[in-house]
Amino acid sequence: MQTRLWRLIKNEEQLNEEKLNEAAALIREGEVVAFPTETVYGLGANGLNGSAVRKIFAAKGRPADNPLILHIAKKNEIEQLTAGLSANAQALMQAFWPGPLTLVVPKSALIPDEVSAGLDTVAVRMPVHPVARRLIALAGCPIAAPSANKSGKPSPTNAQDVLEDMNGLIAGIIDGGSSDIGVESTVVDTTTPVPVILRPGGITKEMLEEVLGAVEIDPALAGNSECRPKAPGMKYRHYAPQAPMYLFIGNEAPLQMKAAIAKGLASGKKIGVIANAAVATALPKDSNLVIRNWQEDPAVLAENLFTWLRSFDHEKVNVILAQGVAETGLGLALMNRLRKAAGNNILLAENQKLFVQSGTCPEFL
Ligand code: AMP
Ligand code: MG
Repeated sequence: MQTRLWRLIKNEEQLNEEKLNEAAALIREGEVVAFPTETVYGLGANGLNGSAVRKIFAAKGRPADNPLILHIAKKNEIEQLTAGLSANAQALMQAFWPGPLTLVVPKSALIPDEVSAGLDTVAVRMPVHPVARRLIALAGCPIAAPSANKSGKPSPTNAQDVLEDMNGLIAGIIDGGSSDIGVESTVVDTTTPVPVILRPGGITKEMLEEVLGAVEIDPALAGNSECRPKAPGMKYRHYAPQAPMYLFIGNEAPLQMKAAIAKGLASGKKIGVIANAAVATALPKDSNLVIRNWQEDPAVLAENLFTWLRSFDHEKVNVILAQGVAETGLGLALMNRLRKAAGNNILLAENQKLFVQSGTCPEFL
């Protein structure tokens, strides 16, 4: 299949509208089109058409038991998709829509089994990105859209990254520039008396608490492998770069990371590094070091994390060493993505030692 690329151009509203119309027509015909949102790029199809939705699973290589999020353009469009909204769900829509928050709600009879993976709930989001909203409006249907990456790979935050994974597999890609937030939406189950965060994301736990009073976190997110995550997608390995990755946490992470980098370089490794400015600027200049510096700003890490992981594949690094962040605010989502990308290889630095908290340790340490 020839994959079309529609490049949107600033201040060319009429031209852009024609391009979005072409993309929307393909969605109405049951094809799959990738499009930008404020979180990451989505792989969209008519969410009320089971056979169109199956094409998403085929293009991604996504397991059929992992349900999709339905994207809508207006708040009231959720009404036909749900069997009823709790007061908490309504409060969250009021506070955070449009935006990077997905609500899990009881599903209506309209929802194809392919979308909900057989669950009796459906996940719904109203994005804030104007291109996403316009596309949904022109298509005239809710758009089912997971992240536009091959299953297991880092989510794409620009059209080039989508093309890398999806060229020849889908009908088209709308290039609307880079996604601002860079990590996926927060998924909240609103069907329980106290809502539960199933996936941390752009809307933080603190922001949710301000509206809801109390919110819980799915225990499976804490890396407790005995718990089964309620968001089926959270059980899969995800965001995985090609090289093995290790996540440094604990008070002495900066110190131990610098020592580990020195040892890795001495043993001839090409190393990808993700660190804040304090660590990144203290490292030697070395052609075997590919350094990604998030300054001291978690939002910079969020915006760039997935492209950085992909860039390590392009640079063919042998190993990736990443520094953890505090798990408050956006940090909860970031640590979730970092742990997954690292395949749970977590190294705890304290008391002048490095402990393997889970997974394995690089052989040069
Ligand atoms: P993605 O589409 O790649 O952003 O992933 C969507 C996430 O939402 C996955 O982790 C899904 O398992 C989760 N999800 C979607 N629908 C539901 C649902 N009805 N109940 C619980 N989790 C869901
Ligand atoms: Mg995804």
